[in-house]
Parts: sequence; C-alpha cells; structure tokens
Amino acid sequence: MKGIVNKIIPFSNVDGPGNRLSIFFQGCNYDCLYCHNPETIEIFGEKSENIPEDISVMSIEKILEEIENVAPFISGITVSGGECSLQWRFLTELFTEIKKNWKRLTCFVDSNCSIPLWPEEKKKFIDILDKVMIDIKAFDKKDHILMTGISNENVIRNFKYLVELGKIYEVRTVIVPEIIDNEKTVDNISKLIAEYDKSLKYKIIKYRQNGVREEVLKAYTPSEEYMKKLKKIAEKNGLSNVVIV
Ligand code: SF4
Repeated sequence: MKGIVNKIIPFSNVDGPGNRLSIFFQGCNYDCLYCHNPETIEIFGEKSENIPEDISVMSIEKILEEIENVAPFISGITVSGGECSLQWRFLTELFTEIKKNWKRLTCFVDSNCSIPLWPEEKKKFIDILDKVMIDIKAFDKKDHILMTGISNENVIRNFKYLVELGKIYEVRTVIVPEIIDNEKTVDNISKLIAEYDKSLKYKIIKYRQNGVREEVLKAYTPSEEYMKKLKKIAEKNGLSNVVIV
C-alpha cells in the first residue's frame, strides 16, 4: 500500500505540540471557499496515470526513512492535507510502524473529520493515533455546505466520538468576515465543546488571503478587535483555552 503525498516538511512548530515532521497528503473531499492549499484538493489513486511530478506516491518505508533523518530532533509527526483521513488505511499502517520504531514519537492527525470515524473498521486507526486536530468550519449545516460544499453531520458526530475518547488536541474554526454569521457559529461551536470539555483548546483562526483562489473568494482579514469579540463569546460559554491565530 502507498500514500499519495503532496509534500513533507521536516520541521514544523505550528502543527501540534513541539517540533514535528508534517506530511501533507494529496486529495480532499471538500472544496472550501478559503482553501489555502487548493493544489492539494485533486484526488489521485496510487495507479493514476495523470499524477503531477511534484506529487509523490510513497511507500511506508520511504516515509520512515524521512522520519529517521530527523527523529532525534522532533517530538512527533502530524499528518495533514488535503484531507489525510481519506488515506486512513495507509495512516494506520504508517502509525503502527512509527510506534514500533520510535515509541516516544506522537502521531497527530489534522483533519476536516468528514468521513465517519466511528465504524468498527477504523478502530485500529483511532486507537493508534494520539490526537486529532479537528476543523469545525461551521455549525449550521447550510453554512457548512456554503463554506465547504458538504454537510457537517459527520464532523459533529466525529467530534462527539473523539472527545469522549480523549483523542482531540484542538478544535479550529477559520473566521471569514461577511460570509456566514461568525458570532452565531462561534457561539454554537463553543457551546458544543463546553458540553464535553471546557478546557479543550479552541483555535479561532483569522482568514488570510495567502494562497486562496481569488476567483472563488474575495474577502478580507478580520480585525483583532473582531476576533477578540468572538473569543469573548466562546469564553462566556465556559471555554478556558480560546486562542486567536
Ligand atoms: S478541507 Fe482543507 S484542504 Fe480541503 S478544501 Fe478545505 S481548506 Fe482545502
């Protein structure tokens, strides 16, 4: 089995705790208005004939070699995308091998959590991963469809499933002004988080234009003042760890 990889960053300090090797998998089932990596959306199979040269079809062994080079200097690996969970079978094998080789390295999954993670067939995947960084891009179904092209029923169910297992590292929402009601969105998402764990990190992320397809979305970065207002809404709902990024 092989993984379809867009790129590997050997050292990242923004993809989870500590210094991490980040693997960006190719292919996503969303088409977010504000996608910063639209080149990672197109899905290819292992045997697709039209795979561009800058995308790699990688074996587990090849990825382990990349990790080996930096293992003494990192605290773990983070898989991201695109949407890495679409390749969950490969990730299950990859994480199993990482844990065999380097017990101290943690395996984090940065995910839109759109595919059902609760079915029995994915139990080994959920057991072996350490933590998930989950995007809840909108609370209202219609808003979520507007932002991503897909409903969020699976996302909400996955959140509840993972949080009860203690598998969530943080929840994230990108704030784009004037597309959906951000105050209502943050209010509802923070209430949902507070129902389960008031100390869970909730990251509200300012929309930035870098890399975004201008023909898909013309928007501006929200002000610090507006972000602070959203943070207060989440804190009023009981959350103690709300971070503006
Ligand atoms: S989930 Fe991420 S990679 Fe996929 S379209 Fe949305 S922003 Fe882009």
